[in-house]
Amino acid sequence: MVSGCTTLLICFAKSALGVVDSHRWVGPLIACCIGYVLSDLASGIYHWGIDNYGSAKTLVFGNQIDAFQHHHKHPWIITKSQFAKNHRILAGGVTFIVLPINLLCKDPTILAFIGAFSGCIMFSQQFHTWAHGTKNKLPKIVLALQDVGILVSRSQHVAHHRLPYNNNYCLVSGLWNNFLDGYKVFELLERIFFFIFGAQPRSWSGLDLEWTEEIETQSLCDSQY
Ligand SMILES: [Zn+2]
Ligand SMILES: [Zn+2]
Repeated sequence: MVSGCTTLLICFAKSALGVVDSHRWVGPLIACCIGYVLSDLASGIYHWGIDNYGSAKTLVFGNQIDAFQHHHKHPWIITKSQFAKNHRILAGGVTFIVLPINLLCKDPTILAFIGAFSGCIMFSQQFHTWAHGTKNKLPKIVLALQDVGILVSRSQHVAHHRLPYNNNYCLVSGLWNNFLDGYKVFELLERIFFFIFGAQPRSWSGLDLEWTEEIETQSLCDSQY
């Protein structure tokens, strides 16, 4: 986690120094916004893939697939997990990918994009955890950011944990959920994957039995939204 945060700080500091040198800040600012918007889309695609394909034995992603399956069986445990534990894998990924970019890239606009995108991805599990929080326990600033749609809302994410378990995959702001679900983008991808590879997504079968274990707990928490 420390390495991930340090990597992000270097990325933003290098971008800020570039802005000071060039006196051009509009490009990096727009790049930051684009990075934030696209990170939500990326979080949705990744979450959809992890939820629907592979198993605990899958190379590289096995641990994440297993953790997300566990999360669907026991959604509220995420609020009890330690901060560092929730972010360890994503922070490692950010360090591995962004550190070399920090060393090689000097363009403040590209660095601003990379910093915002990878930062939002790295903290997406925290945004996810807050989406499972109850109103009276979340900090006021988090509630306000959720209410205006800057962070994924509690009501939007709780829909992901309800039947038919095939929507609202995005975990940063939830901006893309309406588009992806409205145009049935993931359903189309699932059909293409099935046609080409013969791979059935988990959402097509059996989840109503596997993922409803804590439905009563969930309903109790929903009453506080
Ligand atoms: Zn999920
Ligand atoms: Zn969740």
